[in-house]
Amino acid sequence: MTLRDNVGLELTGAAGFVQVFRPTISAMIRINENYTKLKASYLFSDIAKRVTAYAAANPAKPVIRLGIGDVTEPLPAVCLEAFHAGVNELADRATFKGYGPEQGYAFLREAIAQHDYAARGCAIEADEIFVSDGSKCDCGNIQEIFGADIRLAIPDPVYPVYVDTNVMAGRTGGNVNGRYEGITYLESTPANGYVPAIPSVATDLIYLCFPNNPTGAVATKAQLAAWVAYAKANQAIILFDSAYEAYIRDPQIPHSIYEIEGARDVAIEFRSFSKTAGFTGTRCAYLVVPKSLQAYDAAGNAHSVHALWNRRHSTKFNGVSYPVQKAAAAIYTAAGKQQVKAMTDFYLGNAALIRKAVSGLGLSCVGGDNAPYIWINTGTDSWAFFDKLLNEAQVVCTPGAGFGKCGEGHVRISAFNSRSNVEQALERIAKALK
Ligand SMILES: *Cc1c(COP(=O)(O)O)cnc(C)c1O
Repeated sequence: MTLRDNVGLELTGAAGFVQVFRPTISAMIRINENYTKLKASYLFSDIAKRVTAYAAANPAKPVIRLGIGDVTEPLPAVCLEAFHAGVNELADRATFKGYGPEQGYAFLREAIAQHDYAARGCAIEADEIFVSDGSKCDCGNIQEIFGADIRLAIPDPVYPVYVDTNVMAGRTGGNVNGRYEGITYLESTPANGYVPAIPSVATDLIYLCFPNNPTGAVATKAQLAAWVAYAKANQAIILFDSAYEAYIRDPQIPHSIYEIEGARDVAIEFRSFSKTAGFTGTRCAYLVVPKSLQAYDAAGNAHSVHALWNRRHSTKFNGVSYPVQKAAAAIYTAAGKQQVKAMTDFYLGNAALIRKAVSGLGLSCVGGDNAPYIWINTGTDSWAFFDKLLNEAQVVCTPGAGFGKCGEGHVRISAFNSRSNVEQALERIAKALK
């Protein structure tokens, strides 16, 4: 007998009185059991536990953190100024703002369309841009407008949000030997230069991230064009996460998937002010959903993905705060562009030092030239290498295994720290590994 069979309703109380409906057995509030498929511990809490334990046992040995992907430099001056001015407007009845448009204020959407897209020859309109409080949220939320039985292609190693939100939504089976059943994993390995090959099977929703977290690898125009062609051939959609585009220095590397011919018909793009301008604590990002993008119902009828997302976004989101949008828009001024460039140059300077030191120790690595991450091929167990760096150099890195099966044998070192901390960390690593 199923639980449902067992649940009946019992009528109590005499006629004319309030009647109380009560289940005859105690029906229980049920959980979304897809959550039980999620791997129990989260990478960064595991790291934090080991670091806290080490620090407690070794109070005289200060630890330098090159692990978690969070920025360390303060907000650019232009952003702070605009942020303050925005707050002041809220303090005056004449300029006060209540609810804003859920999709973002026109001044920000227009600045994005002009400076991030038109300036690169991409035809993206302001009303195809949805301002949000973070790419993590956007990457996590976007899947809910697509069918429950679509086929997924997700890179390995990868930013964990893409996989976990699809597990929560029930699009996968259980986790078997570190991989969820029902996902086509796009392997990034030393053999393919950490840019995954097009799968030999058809898929419907494809996650790509370039410059990549965690590997720091970038994709060329030709590589992205192959993905666009694959998506077109399969009537699939690419979700392109370009959270780190501000770190691209090679002029041949595309900053946006829309630099590829035809991408408007097959791709959604995620961008964030987090790594671009130090907004990880301030919160502002955006999603681009071209109006030409279509997805299909079971009968094969085409629907506008833009319309679906607009419906979802305006139902479940109430916009980013006005002062934050003012602060974000400030990066598109001449001074703002200069300050963002200076900040990303600073982190890339750290990255160059890390690359040089790591290569000098005879370890092979990628990233760090167009991304703030250096992906080191240690060839050893990644948690063992993490422990060695923590215990012998007091430096925290991120074990590659935490990003997926293909991350094993690698660690990620982040360039987000002060120059003096990076220099000190590199000296200690050199000593420990020599
Ligand atoms: C940091 C990061 C983001 C940005 O997340 P926010 O929520 O905007 O701070 C998006 N994608 C990847 C891969 C990231 O590493």
